[in-house]
Amino acid sequence: MQNPFDQELQDRLVRYAAIDSQSDETAPASPSTACQFDMLHLLRDELVEMGAQDVELTDYGVVLATIPGTAPGPTVGFLAHVDTAPQFNASGVKPRVISGYNGGDITFPDDPALVLSPAEHPYLAEKIGHDLITASGTTLLGADDKAGVAIVMTMARHLLNNPDIARGPIRVAFTPDEEIGRGVSERLPADLRADFAYTLDGGQVGEIEYESFSADRAVVTVTGVSIHPGWAKEKMVNAIHLASKIVQTLPQATMTPETTDGRDGFIHATDMEGGSSQMVIKFILRDFERDGLAAKGELLRQVCAVVQTGEPRATIKCEIYPQYRNMRYWLEKDMTPVDLARAAAKAEGVEPISVPIRGGTDGSRLTEMGVPTPNVFTGMQCIHGPLEWISVQDMATATRTCVTLAQMAAKG
Ligand SMILES: [Zn+2]
Repeated sequence: MQNPFDQELQDRLVRYAAIDSQSDETAPASPSTACQFDMLHLLRDELVEMGAQDVELTDYGVVLATIPGTAPGPTVGFLAHVDTAPQFNASGVKPRVISGYNGGDITFPDDPALVLSPAEHPYLAEKIGHDLITASGTTLLGADDKAGVAIVMTMARHLLNNPDIARGPIRVAFTPDEEIGRGVSERLPADLRADFAYTLDGGQVGEIEYESFSADRAVVTVTGVSIHPGWAKEKMVNAIHLASKIVQTLPQATMTPETTDGRDGFIHATDMEGGSSQMVIKFILRDFERDGLAAKGELLRQVCAVVQTGEPRATIKCEIYPQYRNMRYWLEKDMTPVDLARAAAKAEGVEPISVPIRGGTDGSRLTEMGVPTPNVFTGMQCIHGPLEWISVQDMATATRTCVTLAQMAAKG
């Protein structure tokens, strides 16, 4: 470990990852799980202890703080989310450090069958000599996004201890429930008080992302005609049959998550439940462009209409709700936040990469709500599963990039 940030980042990630803070899509509360407060309270106390100002935990579950500026300049926000993904076991995480990775296969103490191999993960092959952090085999690690938290905290402490580093005011924010798309409260843009911001929630070193999906969700409710099956002839209309027909009529060899990549969007049936009298099918619709997203909504409506025409005694309702929009629509009007991040990465010897994100971030919502917020790399890999890993040295590169970015933003 040569870089002064390495030890601090390693210690922080190991400490934070061991704290259970998984979010839960099915819980109506905000934050969705009480355990997220264990992270939020800890971060609030650590920020107070390191001398940050205006430290608060809002009633909607966001920790905010100010790192005072030492030079005139715009106020720059840095965000990370405290929740971990609901898709995989995230309780009782036992982080493990592999010092000076030797380039071989990585095995896991709690699941002997599990192997993380550089042959299958070329990015891992580039990390020989790095210090890696993984979980123990039965849980995810939660580097998504505790690596982001560790990076923002390490940057904050570094700037507070080094007032000679000329930078404008910095605002930091730690949000809950990003993984379930509920991280950005209506009140966050105003409370953040930043001219622009960055989420530290990206993957490989160099990623500076300013394009996300545009997203809607849809709920299709099929109401049949219910009657005792013994006397049902020419009277019963079975909602299960109609719901199946809707799913079967939608494209399956194209336009699904499992058949698309790159810039192509999809219609994804996420959930179907009910019975013969009523069925509810849930979908998420994704596309990078507004037109493409609207076309997918229209296709879903048409399929519902066709099935409805075939069975007029049923009632088929298709409701579509907006979720978030591609942040490029706002960022391309003023690329300053993106250009600053790219310049900072280059100054740290890193070639910036901008790939459209096939998903959304807290930055998608924040950007739409008036705070331009591109996404910056942390180094996290194989997220949302037991192979999740990260290089401490990659996290250090991200931290240095943030410090440089803060300086460059003040210079203008
Ligand atoms: Zn994340």
